[in-house]
Amino acid sequence: MNQNLKIIRIFMLIVLFIFFMGLIVSPSLAQELQQERHILVLNSYNKGYAWTDNIVEGIESIFDTENSNYKISIEYMDTNIRHDEDYISLLHQLYKSKFQNTDIDIIIASDNVAYTFLKKYHGDLFPNIPIVVCGLNFYDNYIIQQNNFTGIVEELHFKDTIDIALALHPKASNFIVIFDNSRTGNMNTQAIKTLVPLYNNKIEFKFIQSDSFEEVAQKAKKLPKDSIIFAGAILQDKYGYPIPIEKGYKLISQAAHIPIYTAWDMSIGNGIIGGKVVSGYDQGVAVANMAKEVLEGRSISTIPFQRKSPNKYVFDYNELKRFNININDLPKDSRIINKPDLYLKIPKEQFYIALILIILLGIILYMLKKQDAKDSFNKEVMRAILHSTNDGLLIYDYEYNYVNTNEQFKKMWNISEDSLGQNSLFVIRKIIKDQVKNYNDIIDNINNIVTNSTYTSSVVELKSGKSYEWVFEPLIIDNGISGYLWRYKDITMKIDYEKKLAKSQKLYSKFIEILPDAVFIYKNTKVVIANESALNLLGHDTIEEMCEDPFENSIQIHPNYIDVVSKRMDQLSTIETTVDFMEEKYILQNGDVVDVEVGATSFKQNDDMYIVLVIRDIRERKKSEKLTRRIQEKNIQLKKAKEYDTLKTQFFSTISHELKTPLNVILGTVQLFQSMPQESNNTDTPHPLSGKYINMMKQNCYRLLRLINNLIDITRIDSNFLKMNIKNYNIVYIVEDITLSVAEYAKIYDVKLIFDTEIEEIIIACDADKIERIILNLLSNAVKFTPSGGLIEVNIMQEENNVIINIKDNGIGIPKDKLQDIFDRFKQVDSSTTRSKEGSGIGLSLVKALVELHSGTITVESELEMGSEFIIRLPIVQLPDTPTVYSEVATTRDEKVERISIEFSDIYS
Ligand code: ADP
Repeated sequence: MNQNLKIIRIFMLIVLFIFFMGLIVSPSLAQELQQERHILVLNSYNKGYAWTDNIVEGIESIFDTENSNYKISIEYMDTNIRHDEDYISLLHQLYKSKFQNTDIDIIIASDNVAYTFLKKYHGDLFPNIPIVVCGLNFYDNYIIQQNNFTGIVEELHFKDTIDIALALHPKASNFIVIFDNSRTGNMNTQAIKTLVPLYNNKIEFKFIQSDSFEEVAQKAKKLPKDSIIFAGAILQDKYGYPIPIEKGYKLISQAAHIPIYTAWDMSIGNGIIGGKVVSGYDQGVAVANMAKEVLEGRSISTIPFQRKSPNKYVFDYNELKRFNININDLPKDSRIINKPDLYLKIPKEQFYIALILIILLGIILYMLKKQDAKDSFNKEVMRAILHSTNDGLLIYDYEYNYVNTNEQFKKMWNISEDSLGQNSLFVIRKIIKDQVKNYNDIIDNINNIVTNSTYTSSVVELKSGKSYEWVFEPLIIDNGISGYLWRYKDITMKIDYEKKLAKSQKLYSKFIEILPDAVFIYKNTKVVIANESALNLLGHDTIEEMCEDPFENSIQIHPNYIDVVSKRMDQLSTIETTVDFMEEKYILQNGDVVDVEVGATSFKQNDDMYIVLVIRDIRERKKSEKLTRRIQEKNIQLKKAKEYDTLKTQFFSTISHELKTPLNVILGTVQLFQSMPQESNNTDTPHPLSGKYINMMKQNCYRLLRLINNLIDITRIDSNFLKMNIKNYNIVYIVEDITLSVAEYAKIYDVKLIFDTEIEEIIIACDADKIERIILNLLSNAVKFTPSGGLIEVNIMQEENNVIINIKDNGIGIPKDKLQDIFDRFKQVDSSTTRSKEGSGIGLSLVKALVELHSGTITVESELEMGSEFIIRLPIVQLPDTPTVYSEVATTRDEKVERISIEFSDIYS
């Protein structure tokens, strides 16, 4: 645009330059200034009447009043309004007073009225001043006799006009002649009427004679379509004022759409097609030339009166087109006005200047037009942009006056364009006040924006929950601010998505972070995301550090896996695919070989290939797999051992029974021997069957029997075959009974056995025989390991829901380090072969098993040389609905004696 304006300016300068050059060379300037010459132009009619105006124009074209010494005064007699004698005489008086002392060099009169007036009064008003007259329709000898008069005739070529009209409209059948009631009108009507006989049978003539425009217009409207109008009247409106011909006939022509012809040129171009016309302008030029000759010194009497009117065929191009008249059908020398290719008659040198001017003007116009086109294009573009965007736009000029907006803006803020029409920031404030959340901040923001007038962008939150991105942008043209653009973008969804995205990203990253597996995300060949486990695996602290030091440098793939791994990586980086988890081995920087399981998937996004690589450290798994295998092996071994143990138990059981049978036979035989009378003559050598030998045999039988019984019981317990005979017994009684039985034996070893109880009766569900054996076993041990003179105390007490049986001796005691495994099978404290008290080490383990079969516990407290205390704890429970057994005891007295004898058999006396 600026470029174009510059070019226009330059052209304007050139135009002015050429124009002044033209002035310099113009002959008018070269003309020498002469004495002032006064010309009076006296027109019959009024100013504004085209005929008269044309004449004046013609006259003025000859006298260049501005650049010469010619001065023209123009008078209008206005006789088309009033032309009676009184008026004429008033005019006489008026002019007399007006021009009395005026120095007039020549008078140019137009039309008959002025001619007649001057003929009558020139002697009085303008004596001896030459008079040239134009537009004379009727003249007399007065002018021919040249009494200071000459001029030019105005001849009307009615016939030529009628002929051409009929020729151009061959189908017309009516020829309507319109004149007013003026003298001229009458005379012209008569003149045409004389021509009518020439057109007999060709066309019908109709005459409308009226001064009223309304009357003529009404009649014209009713005319048939095949009519031609001949316009001759000067029409008046209803107030009596003349309607200019060009206006009057234009209205008639438009209303009736009938071709109108005329014999005067002044109305052509205004609804009248044309005709052979007399030209006011030509009349003016002709008469002015005559006047000029006189003024230049020629005597008026030598200038002949011009009897031929210079009439021409003149047509209006626009009207010809309106009535579809072909220009070729017009007479050859016709002048066509309003024709697009206007031909100008101007002097040669000025023609070229004009030509250059026209070309330059043409260029300027072209450029302006182009500029216009560009402007309207720009406007259209602006409109299109405003309405095609989803953003709400509001445009202000530099004073914050509203310029434009779009539908989107109005929708976003729920407003009408009217409310924007005023100013400005006030309106904006009003609009947003009720709709936004943090109004005060926004107002501060607006104020800052207005003060700084720089690009600003922020986000506005609405009460409705929406969010708009808000951009303020000064519109800068030629380094100056021309206006401001406020742009609102609805980013509610965007923010929503961003929140959701951030949330899901957070979730994902959290998820990835807590994964025990190492996760790497590659973008093309670079690691962009890695979790804690990944960093740990590679021995890095930060992801940046890892990106600098790529994966490949931190870990070596075990040679056995290099081929398959590179094949998988190639596959992943070429196409979107997933590779299943596969076991691999990595070699870490420190040389450790790590078992891993690696799986990956790849996907493409925006031409970038992403690979998600998951590496699972399976060292622990491998370890536990090894462990499981070992456990399985151990279990198998255990099972085998158990089977072997069972076999052993069975063997013990079998062998025990096998041993017990012959032993019982031997014992029975020994007892038989014992009961037989013993006869011996030699007291020195005891008889083999004497008591001493028999006792030896019996004691060793008991020892064997004790061992076998213990073995049988322990194998029974091990194989769950020991039968329990549970009944409700008074446990105090059972313990007391067996203790008292043992007391006698203890005496033999000089050991004192005391029984004491806090409570006389505690009924519990138990197997009396097993209880007896427990106590007997413990007492025999106590006797065994208590030297003579010692004391054994048996106490029974109740402690809460338990019965406590305490067997305490002050014997040799048990070393501390042996206490924990004293109840283990085959364990003896003194394993030396020279033991004074023999045993198998089964006793206490059997006692413990029997106590546990009663859901009880047994513990020992002992100190070397101080003695030992065995504490049995049995729960006090009874068999429901079962009577207590008082009478029945586990063993009879004899059985008890035998049992004690067996139990004490391994004590050497
Ligand atoms: P055995 O059947 O051979 O008697 P036990 O299981 O009854 O075996 O006893 C195991 C060992 O515990 C004994 O050999 C003895 O060393 C020790 N022991 C048991 N009772 C006492 C006690 N009252 N005082 C000292 N030592 C004892």
